Amino acid sequence: MTTNRPHVVVVGAGFGGLSCVRSLAKVDVDITLIDRHNYHLFQPLLYQVATAGLSPAEIAWPIRRLVRNQANVSVRLDCVVDVDVSRKQVQLQSGEPLAYDCLVLATGARHAYFGNDQWAEYAPGLKSVDDATMIRRRILLAFEQAEMAPTDAQPRWLTVVVVGAGPTGVELAGTIAELAHKTLARDFRKIDPRSTRIVLVEAGDRVLSAMPPDLSAKALKSLQKLGVEVRLGTPITACDAEGVMIGEERLPAATVLWAAGVAASPAGQWLGAECDRVGRVQVAPDFSVPQCDGVFTIGDTAALSIDGEPLPGIAPAAKQAGAYVGRAIAASLAGKDLAPFKYRDSGNLATIGRRSAVIDFGRIKLSGWLAWWGWGIAHIYFLIGTKSRLLVALQWFWSYITFDRGARLITGRQSRSSTES
Ligand SMILES: Cc1cc2nc3c(=O)[nH]c(=O)nc-3n(C[C@H](O)[C@H](O)[C@H](O)COP(=O)(O)OP(=O)(O)OC[C@H]3O[C@@H](n4cnc5c(N)ncnc54)[C@H](O)[C@@H]3O)c2cc1C
Repeated sequence: MTTNRPHVVVVGAGFGGLSCVRSLAKVDVDITLIDRHNYHLFQPLLYQVATAGLSPAEIAWPIRRLVRNQANVSVRLDCVVDVDVSRKQVQLQSGEPLAYDCLVLATGARHAYFGNDQWAEYAPGLKSVDDATMIRRRILLAFEQAEMAPTDAQPRWLTVVVVGAGPTGVELAGTIAELAHKTLARDFRKIDPRSTRIVLVEAGDRVLSAMPPDLSAKALKSLQKLGVEVRLGTPITACDAEGVMIGEERLPAATVLWAAGVAASPAGQWLGAECDRVGRVQVAPDFSVPQCDGVFTIGDTAALSIDGEPLPGIAPAAKQAGAYVGRAIAASLAGKDLAPFKYRDSGNLATIGRRSAVIDFGRIKLSGWLAWWGWGIAHIYFLIGTKSRLLVALQWFWSYITFDRGARLITGRQSRSSTES
């Protein structure tokens, strides 16, 4: 850096990193914001890209554009591969070390296959724009292949298995059911897309296990109404190019999607810090990392319990942590104390198809049509910029009244090779 101001390096321009950068806007520091992508992604709506409802540009924004009015920030497109805590440097993939006075690691999480990494090839997870467009391609190509296949081969092409009934699995299964049973219903000549089987497999005993049991039960009913087969208490025991094994049962399926597990980014390994079972760094109550001078970890890659309750791996928690760490850095530079972090719980939401959702605000619980409107309004509100809000609202309104899904493009590789069969 060319100035003598303290240098804050923020790694990750997701919800946590961006919120930290913004809270340092008026602080006398130089910030370098590093991300391996040039965009900030609104992950809660990724499933809409994967199911052809929205296009990637409607839920992702260039990082440079988002911080261009904040003069103390420089953006760097690069990937952090290690941290030298004794020298206070991050190691970049491009080869150069970058020195910091304060380091904020907000590198999120990735999929976990519980020791079965070989399943990743057959059952992609949903975490990035590339994942979403690849899943969209697999789903849409399966219908094209079914149309060309002999009759006895069609059922495999017309079977979709979603593994994991958390919010992402439930949202994917519900939306794919609507895509197959409504949107595509009259678009093919040889096959009937309404015969598509969508099987949601969950090892636990209910869907949306983070929600209260009555909302789980309502979500289950909504899924069944959409024609989703829900298999509870049945883990996947094998997954290959032909389909899956659910317990002892073989289920041929051309499309298998993974929504079952996450693991934190390798930030804990870079730091040599103590981590929990899914690799999240055990942080102090101010998100600083013990024994790592000037280092903070936030969002999905940090583990912290407040009053005995673990902070959830959701966007509001990452944002609040990011804003707090920005204030903590400012306070420490000014030699001031900061009140301890307090988490404001903004509730738990999940949607099931186009007209149903469940919302848990603690004392207030909503389900059905009203909850769907609440879910939709909340998500439009949290998008960045008026243009995205208007575009997404318009797309949803249009799909709501017509069942149409406008982003039905098969992009990338056109044919399903052996790895995509
Ligand atoms: C499909 C899906 C649906 C979700 N739905 C919801 C929802 O409905 N509501 C909700 O509240 N939460 C939801 N979440 C969770 C929410 O998105 C995360 O909790 C939140 O994004 C965590 O923020 P973060 O800043 O920790 O990480 P992220 O937002 O994941 O950001 C991490 C950033 O770090 C960058 N990065 C990672 N590694 C490196 C590296 N080595 N070098 C440089 N850059 C790096 C990444 O490119 C990324 O930009 C969902 C998540 C997914 C995947």
